[in-house]
Amino acid sequence: MKIQSVAVIGAGQMGSGIAALAASQGMSVIVMDQQISQLEKAKRVIEDRWKRNEEKGYITAEERSHWSAQLQYTHQLEQLDRVDLVIEAIIEQRKQKQALFQTLDRFAADHTILASNTSSLSITELAAHTSRATKVIGMHFMNPVHRMPLVEVVQGLETNEEVVQTIVKLARDWGKEPVVVQDAPGFISNRLLMPMLNEAVFALQEGIASAEEIDQIMRLGMNHPMGPLALADLIGLDTCLYIMESLYQGFGDDKYRPCPLLRKYVQAGRLGKKSGRGFYLYS
Ligand code: NAD
Repeated sequence: MKIQSVAVIGAGQMGSGIAALAASQGMSVIVMDQQISQLEKAKRVIEDRWKRNEEKGYITAEERSHWSAQLQYTHQLEQLDRVDLVIEAIIEQRKQKQALFQTLDRFAADHTILASNTSSLSITELAAHTSRATKVIGMHFMNPVHRMPLVEVVQGLETNEEVVQTIVKLARDWGKEPVVVQDAPGFISNRLLMPMLNEAVFALQEGIASAEEIDQIMRLGMNHPMGPLALADLIGLDTCLYIMESLYQGFGDDKYRPCPLLRKYVQAGRLGKKSGRGFYLYS
């Protein structure tokens, strides 16, 4: 199946990155968010980055204007019957994603593949909220989308092999490196990454070292490009908490228990880079 048009639902940091990538690959893209302010922000972020790239000579003025014209922003779900692929990138909350998949199933054309950029939630369960479980799949991009090569492709229990191959090919066509995994809490990426980030927050909570020192140890000692607390701030502390909650719920093991300090920061609205404050301050 050939994918020519895409809708991205949720225009936050991931949705805006995915939409920009798709548009730069010649797709016609609908970007949908329930908040108009988020749509405006996404448009600004995408246009500013392309403008900087043009100024640096990485892209031409023609490319920039062509890509911009490929993007259409809306806060309604109506035009979904015209797209071949929907990529859902709303917040990492099970109930909200399930309700959205039910709605997407109603609005989308029969042939449309419904993909989720979820970091940890069950694709099989999302699929069960639709009447097209064979066409539901995980397409898990990494942050920031324009820089990170990996797309973790998650095959739900009912996901059709042809749909898997369509998404694998699409990810390659978009310049990414797909890796197919089976459906399990946190898949591979966040099953391994998130407990480390959570543990860093426990170490901070216990006063073992400062945030800077914890990050320095992992950068200088383990050759990580970013420390775990700076990375948690980049991902979004709310997203980290939701992922830990779904790992904890999914595996039922205390080793996945979210750190109380992480929860406290989220309750205080310190969501990391996107809110201007997390473990670090951002201007
Ligand atoms: P974000 O908070 O930046 O953006 C979420 C967006 O979804 C917001 O703009 C919000 O207005 C919108 N939204 C919420 N409910 C909606 C609904 N019902 N309909 C339409 N829009 C709705 O979050 P993000 O960091 O972009 O994460 C989005 C998804 O991508 C999550 O599932 C997350 O787990 C996953 N993800 C995040 C990262 C990361 O590093 N942040 C990496 C990979 C995957």
